[in-house]
Amino acid sequence: MTVAGSWGKFDSFEGRKFDVLDAEFTHAVTELLGGQDLTACFQCAKCSAGCPVSDKVNIQVHEVMRMLVLGIRDVLQTDMIWLCTTCYTCQERCPQGISITDILFGLKNMAFRNGIAPPGYVAARQTLYERGRLYEPTDWEREDLELENVPELDVDETRGLLERLGLMCLQEDE
Ligand code: SF4
Ligand code: SF4
Repeated sequence: MTVAGSWGKFDSFEGRKFDVLDAEFTHAVTELLGGQDLTACFQCAKCSAGCPVSDKVNIQVHEVMRMLVLGIRDVLQTDMIWLCTTCYTCQERCPQGISITDILFGLKNMAFRNGIAPPGYVAARQTLYERGRLYEPTDWEREDLELENVPELDVDETRGLLERLGLMCLQEDE
């Protein structure tokens, strides 16, 4: 699995040369929710202008849309698709009605299936698999709130769900 060094630290795309028109990738993109409308993008960058994480990412969201139109598979290596807060501002602002956020959701799934994910996601998945929850409340916190001890979780059920969703098929050392 390709794991970035840390949040927001995927390699810069500056100066990189890409192979364009990967036919298989282009076909996969057209199958994503909203992917059929991508050719309507005229690169006005209104999506990027309103994006709250635009100063945290290695490429901007309008550039992601362009790379998709050109069939550049390397777009799966951008942290834009992981740092996106899914606020839907870009989708609301797009004058062409492109389902930008929905496309980013699809890219996130595609990246993960291709073994590309930031360490935070991989760690969260593992914690969920092992403990059945992402956060372990401490007893003293519950005591302060006069609550009973945390009940034991049925971890098998959570594990079964994660496996059925295909989230455990990729390992960190792959
Ligand atoms: S706002 Fe819409 S048309 Fe403009 S660059 Fe973004 S996706 Fe393309
Ligand atoms: S949905 Fe994601 S890409 Fe779109 S504006 Fe919000 S954070 Fe940016």
